[in-house]
Amino acid sequence: VSSVDVPDETAVGIIGAGPAGLVLAHLLKARGIDCVVLELHDREYVEHRVRAGVLEAPTVELLRTLGLADRLDRESLPHRGIQLAFEGRRHHIDFLDLVGRSITVYGQQEVVKDLIAARVDAGDPIVFEARDVEPVDVDTDKPLIRYRHDDEDRELRCQVVAGCDGFHGVSRPYVPDLTVYDRQYPFAWLGILAEAAPTQDELIYASHERGFALYSMRSPTITRLYLQVPADETLDGWSDDRIWSELETRLPTEDGFVLNTGPILDKGITEMRGFVATPMRHGNLVLAGDAAHIVPPTGAKGMNLAIADVFVLAGILDDVITRGRAERLADYTTACLRRVWRAQHFSWWMTSMLHRFGDDPFQRQLQLSELALVTGSVTAARNLAENYTGYPFDDMFGGET
Ligand SMILES: Cc1cc2nc3c(=O)[nH]c(=O)nc-3n(C[C@H](O)[C@H](O)[C@H](O)COP(=O)(O)OP(=O)(O)OC[C@H]3O[C@@H](n4cnc5c(N)ncnc54)[C@H](O)[C@@H]3O)c2cc1C
Repeated sequence: VSSVDVPDETAVGIIGAGPAGLVLAHLLKARGIDCVVLELHDREYVEHRVRAGVLEAPTVELLRTLGLADRLDRESLPHRGIQLAFEGRRHHIDFLDLVGRSITVYGQQEVVKDLIAARVDAGDPIVFEARDVEPVDVDTDKPLIRYRHDDEDRELRCQVVAGCDGFHGVSRPYVPDLTVYDRQYPFAWLGILAEAAPTQDELIYASHERGFALYSMRSPTITRLYLQVPADETLDGWSDDRIWSELETRLPTEDGFVLNTGPILDKGITEMRGFVATPMRHGNLVLAGDAAHIVPPTGAKGMNLAIADVFVLAGILDDVITRGRAERLADYTTACLRRVWRAQHFSWWMTSMLHRFGDDPFQRQLQLSELALVTGSVTAARNLAENYTGYPFDDMFGGET
């Protein structure tokens, strides 16, 4: 939309067009609540950022309920489970058998493309290249967002400001007296996207003496691969040849696993960090997704958690805006944190079981024992399957506490 068409007043001002902001916009629309999305970058940039790719079962169900899963249902890759590789052998964890639900592989940027297209096609306001975004007066009942667009200073008055602007966004500092829980892991992930047809139809999590490696894919022609590297690693020392050679060392198993190679389309280093900031709300400002918390990617939880937050938030905003129950905002943080910490723990547990932590042989034996348990005991495998495929958004443990 051009800035002329952007309203200067709405019910919910959403900062950020990532999964959290976009899903929130669609959830609000389904409830008849107006919102405006303000995004720092241009559409092209946002639609081509390579990030997560595993959708939990509840995420897929939600996108279907919202009528946003047509392309996802055509093009995504349904996976029955994952594989764990260690000591030269692969073990299948069959999610469908273990818990009756599974996961879907579909790139985060594809989800984002679908959500943006649906919003643009419906003529609903989304402003790209919104600069100098600033939440104002969020502790009053007349908050607003100031920003610049097309070289013009603009204001968006709203009832509630939703900070969905990711880990490095502007919103979090507007919540005073934050309690922050932070865990920096002593390694990072070097990730590549390669034009190479996957030879496997499931992700392989490999715990190798030289460090962790992950085999995954984004489509029938694109492979996504990761290597554990030191926390302060840069891409300088990683030629394409060195990356393929290291993957070929860490991934193969005795059953003849073959890795297809091909041109590398994208290369990046992702830090491994667990972070939770609470509360997730101050006055009429709420935080959702990476703006409030990040997890190491080992459990494939980041995007799913962002979407779970806004599922909770949309229900609360419906009470606040449609039914005038402003006090409901006070419930938001507690309603999210139980899932946030479950995801944090699961991501930590997967990370601890699979990565190399220095040369401690005692620690290595503990890891191998845990891997033997998870691949040998149905009870232990079910625990992994239940966490990985995702707990229902509305009733995490099925009403039991
Ligand atoms: C580099 C990277 C790689 C990742 N890889 C994986 C992975 O391999 N596997 C995995 O499971 N998870 C991965 N994640 C995590 C996952 O992608 C995130 O958890 C997910 O994107 C969270 O969604 P979100 O909407 O909360 O935040 P984001 O996707 O970060 O979206 C926030 C949006 O807000 C916008 N924004 C920021 N600042 C402003 C501002 N001042 N004004 C307006 N807009 C603003 C941003 O441009 C962005 O579009 C990765 C994350 C990153 C950053």
